[in-house]
Amino acid sequence: MSFAELWDSLLPVGRGPKTGGYRRYSFTEADAACREWFCDHARQRSLRLQTDGNGNLWAHWDVPAAWPSDSMIVTGSHLDSVPDGGAYDGPLGVVSGFAAIDLLRARGFVPARPIAVAAFCEEEGGRFGVACLGSRLLTGVLAPRAALELRDGSGVTLARAMTGAGLDPGRLGEDEDLLNSIGAFVELHIEQGSALDGLGAAVGIAQGIWPHGRWRLDFTGRADHAGTTRLADRRDPMLPYAATVLAARQAAAEHAALATFGKVVAEPGGANAICSAVRAWLDARAPDEAALHRMVEQVEDAARRAAAGHGVEVEVHLESFTPPVEFDPRLRARLAGALAGRGITAPVLPTGAGHDAGILAARLPAAMLFVRNPSGVSHSPAEHADPADCEAGVVALAVVLEELAGR
Ligand SMILES: [Zn+2]
Repeated sequence: MSFAELWDSLLPVGRGPKTGGYRRYSFTEADAACREWFCDHARQRSLRLQTDGNGNLWAHWDVPAAWPSDSMIVTGSHLDSVPDGGAYDGPLGVVSGFAAIDLLRARGFVPARPIAVAAFCEEEGGRFGVACLGSRLLTGVLAPRAALELRDGSGVTLARAMTGAGLDPGRLGEDEDLLNSIGAFVELHIEQGSALDGLGAAVGIAQGIWPHGRWRLDFTGRADHAGTTRLADRRDPMLPYAATVLAARQAAAEHAALATFGKVVAEPGGANAICSAVRAWLDARAPDEAALHRMVEQVEDAARRAAAGHGVEVEVHLESFTPPVEFDPRLRARLAGALAGRGITAPVLPTGAGHDAGILAARLPAAMLFVRNPSGVSHSPAEHADPADCEAGVVALAVVLEELAGR
């Protein structure tokens, strides 16, 4: 099947009619349709299907010959999205995995090692707030007990959501056997920046991932009337929150890092009332851990100072943290060599975005291929990659799978 046919078959699933953005949240109807799409395409290719205990999907191209038990070559990415996300972030890697298998089979390639396409669950943390949930559970970085207590915006627990989707939350947790069967993981992903465009390359190789984390700031003040409460009498949590947003921008610029408040909830949220509380989420990323911690401390200090000035309480909670990742240099060199051998120039790039490959890299050799994103826009309906570049990504992935799974 051509890449375009495969791509088009997934495109309508979970797309909002108004924004054109995707809402593919874990264990919802849209997610079920994505899972069904994955299973359909695995069946069409006679790949063996597996849903692991953490809700991650696997389509296995088994090999008849005996192979070393730790040599499975895995590719794939995720199918879930951020609110109103783009079409490419995640799905491009899964679609390219199936397309690369089609390409290899059309060439008559017979793998010496098993190959699998995986789709990891809740990578964006769009529903339960923890990014890379499926791979964190798989690798044991996140304990099942902590995961089961996660709630979505409507108070539904992960356990209930999984049960509703026909999955058993009792099976959550580290899967040593599955991890030990993997020789290498290569995730193909749209670039979330425009570095490749600047370099004139359709595909690139990831060097590593910046350390990053999410912090929740709870500002608690006092609800009051917007029309009768004198300015001097107010304890308005919106004011220290606003000062903190500006301080985060300043701190990010000072540390050559990134800090973003992308989600904020004002409670109770009346248009003619001073709110009682503001909850806001800080996403912070930096080239190294020391810079990240210095930046976040600076933001916290600014929040506390501003809160004190307005008679507001502030509490800061760390929701998730991912240390820096340096992808396996030997695997990276092997990818670069194989691609260069086919005349494909793939520059090596760092990234500020987290990925399942970054979580898996702590346990096994992992690597990433990036596909050019001319505008650099991601996590938005405007996210785009040219069809020719997507095809180039499939060709590059096929070269890599051939290199790793061949004799
Ligand atoms: Zn992604």
